[in-house]
Amino acid sequence: MSNSNHCPCCGEKPNQTISLVSGDCYICDQCCHMWRTENIIYDYDNNPMFSETSDARMQPAYDLLSLFHTQNMRALEVGVSDGNYAQLLRQNVPFKSYEGVEISPRYKEAETKVDVVHNMTIQELANRGTHQFDLMICNHTLEHIWDIGDFIKAFDCLLSKGGMIYLEVPNRSGHPRFYYDENTSHLHFFSVTSIGRFLERLGYVIIDLRTSIFHNQRCPLGMQLLAMRARDLVEKQPNYKLPPLKIEGPVVVWGVGSQLAVDDLHYQMNIDDILCYVDKDPKKQGKNCYGVDVFAPEHMANFDSFTLYINSLLYEHEIRPEARSIAGDKIKAIVTMKEAYDLKD
Ligand SMILES: [Zn+2]
Repeated sequence: MSNSNHCPCCGEKPNQTISLVSGDCYICDQCCHMWRTENIIYDYDNNPMFSETSDARMQPAYDLLSLFHTQNMRALEVGVSDGNYAQLLRQNVPFKSYEGVEISPRYKEAETKVDVVHNMTIQELANRGTHQFDLMICNHTLEHIWDIGDFIKAFDCLLSKGGMIYLEVPNRSGHPRFYYDENTSHLHFFSVTSIGRFLERLGYVIIDLRTSIFHNQRCPLGMQLLAMRARDLVEKQPNYKLPPLKIEGPVVVWGVGSQLAVDDLHYQMNIDDILCYVDKDPKKQGKNCYGVDVFAPEHMANFDSFTLYINSLLYEHEIRPEARSIAGDKIKAIVTMKEAYDLKD
């Protein structure tokens, strides 16, 4: 069966065909996607794929997923193989449930390591219409699929509202020594641009994309990404796990240096709780910021029992003792900008 010569990622027609030892490929001069002109039927039953489970291969997944509240997520790994990757991932990242899809005979091994294995294609599972998943994991599988558009469309039927797709694929050949990838089980060769265009055309937005992600020695340069339906992202933020932030009023804010930092206060606290801003810069004193006056730091001494928010990354260590010398025990708590912006506890 011949592949369309329209780029499956960006839709343009490729300007050239390249002959590899392993067969001919089209290459798109718009997004640099490369794909085989003819499907190679690879014998997965006799040449099975194994999970890669080295520490170097697992750590990037732990790192990325640690940003999210995964404990409420129903995960589905498409191409779960022997389940060894799933087993390790679950030990390090909590999930509500973890199911797998696997068409090769390896599905039997996976059955002992995940909650349920669906021994069918993702399209067949989607057609049943009875499942919803919050995270669909697909690692080093998409490049093996002939009709990648049909494959990812099946994900859409299975994804919950606000659900995310976690993908890993090689970045082009996966290794800088090789311009082309001769792996006959690989039918598509993605670039950073082509994977982005591909997902965009299917209605997804990449919310995180990392490169130089180790898969194995042959593929040290993989790509790892999380994508979410654009229509879902318009309405809701991904379910990030952030440390709790306690900026309780009344609040004195020290520092109106950066407009960005002042605008961010709307997200960090109830801005009606702000008693005043203080700043050492005489040019800023006497002005007002969103209707609240800016004073010299000494003005803080007029208030009792307030939280001081240090709205500066650069001068935190100078501001802290200076504030103590001005207002002493009247400051009930100090919260720094670094604490307010930190992604980790
Ligand atoms: Zn293209």
